[in-house]
Amino acid sequence: MKGPDAAHSGKPLTMPSYPSNCLHFAKSLIETTLRGPHLKSSPVTLNIILVGAGLGGLVTAIALTKAGHRVKIYEQTAVLGEVGAGIQIPSNSTRILFTLGLQPYLEPYTTEPESIAFRRWQDGKVIGKTKLIPDFVDNFNAPYYVIHRAHFHSALCQKALDMGVEIKLGARVIDCDSVEGSITLADGTKHSGDLVVAADGIKSVARSVLLEGQEMPFRKSGFAAYRAVVDVNKMRSDSELSWILERPALNIWIGDSRHVMTYTIGAGKEFNMVLSHPDSSDPSTWDGQTALEDMKAEFQGWDPVLTKIISMAEKSIKWPLLSGSLLKRWTRGKLVILGDAAHAMLPYMSQGAAMAVEDGVALARSLSHMDSIEQLQEAVDIFQQVRIERAGQMQEASLLNGKLWHFADGPLQEARDAAMAPEVEGIPFNHSPNQWSDPATQMWCYGYDAEKEIDAAWGKAGMGQVNSVL
Ligand SMILES: Cc1cc2nc3c(=O)[nH]c(=O)nc-3n(C[C@H](O)[C@H](O)[C@H](O)COP(=O)(O)OP(=O)(O)OC[C@H]3O[C@@H](n4cnc5c(N)ncnc54)[C@H](O)[C@@H]3O)c2cc1C
Repeated sequence: MKGPDAAHSGKPLTMPSYPSNCLHFAKSLIETTLRGPHLKSSPVTLNIILVGAGLGGLVTAIALTKAGHRVKIYEQTAVLGEVGAGIQIPSNSTRILFTLGLQPYLEPYTTEPESIAFRRWQDGKVIGKTKLIPDFVDNFNAPYYVIHRAHFHSALCQKALDMGVEIKLGARVIDCDSVEGSITLADGTKHSGDLVVAADGIKSVARSVLLEGQEMPFRKSGFAAYRAVVDVNKMRSDSELSWILERPALNIWIGDSRHVMTYTIGAGKEFNMVLSHPDSSDPSTWDGQTALEDMKAEFQGWDPVLTKIISMAEKSIKWPLLSGSLLKRWTRGKLVILGDAAHAMLPYMSQGAAMAVEDGVALARSLSHMDSIEQLQEAVDIFQQVRIERAGQMQEASLLNGKLWHFADGPLQEARDAAMAPEVEGIPFNHSPNQWSDPATQMWCYGYDAEKEIDAAWGKAGMGQVNSVL
């Protein structure tokens, strides 16, 4: 449909290239909403070796296959799966997943929380609130979901298999060659392709090849997380707790150096908790046997509702929280890294896997700009340039949440809570320390269009403005 300005200028309205909601008013009249990826097919078909069948590897395989490439995944584990229970799929990720055709695979398992409530550590009083329904679909054209990790992983896996992606299990990569575009497996066999894409996680073998043996220095966060679930039936039968299950929502208790993020998953059957607390000790010294009792001790004196839920957990795992440092490069020759291998981050923006989803579609888009295989280096360079900036900013936003949420009671905490009060009271506001609500952060975080950024970078490259690090 032509825009209402047609009579005025003869040209339809188009979304501005800068982050803006100025055309939101005309959403129903013109094509102004954020679109999902266009999934442009690549004029050049590549044979791509993908290392790692985690969330990042699988979604990248789907995006690359959809663009017309032939993808084979090499995964070290003999049995596929995911550690931990819940994961949030924010709108910037859902929008891409839907366009990749994942909606029917995901929807039987997703829960759409109506809001995120920030609660005071001591008594659970709501001190900040983000309305997700209908605001996020309305503003960012895709729902904000929570899901069990195993369901997310199996949905991606099923879609990849349905598209003909081959997944080789029990295939541990011990070396990569960025000149040849090859990998060597632990069984001694060598496999080559036009491009090796490694989504091999935080301990990436490919990253050390890319950095010529140097290890990426991790930023020590000084935090670790306990991950636990509670059976909702236990909570439902307790009159002090049942209210929290009435409607699907995220609830996060924040206080001095600690926070607890919670939501229900598994079609409302399990109450998922991630409990972040200070811990700088070496994970090799941790004792799994004491994790449950240690977790309960960490939150003594917090809101009685929260501690009662924590007391119902029957097991817990302790997880290190690491943030990678900003890498200068994600590519070398025919080798590319993405996902946690490239940009591990604190989970405090709930965006780690979402960044891998954006990486996957951005790589596919950049390769689709090639007219011939001679442009492969340019395509991966442009991917790297665009994604290093975005993921680096998300690492920064995640670290910042660790500061904003963890103030001890005092002047900064009081000022923060006062700044979030309007969103609780339903009064208009134009800034917030809650990064889910802050209008500028929202637009940057959830309104991001990875393909548009890649197209713009190719446009600039045409004008000789891309800086190659190679
Ligand atoms: C407590 C916590 C909560 C989180 N919450 C969220 C959230 O709500 N939302 C969100 O978007 N993100 C969240 N994240 C981040 C998210 O879990 C990760 O960013 C994401 O899982 C990374 O996916 P990946 O595929 O890059 O890496 P991984 O999941 O680590 O997958 C790597 C894969 O590569 C395989 N592999 C490794 N080495 C080799 C090798 N040498 N050869 C072959 N295969 C190999 C591994 O077996 C694995 O299957 C959270 C993280 C934590 C710790």
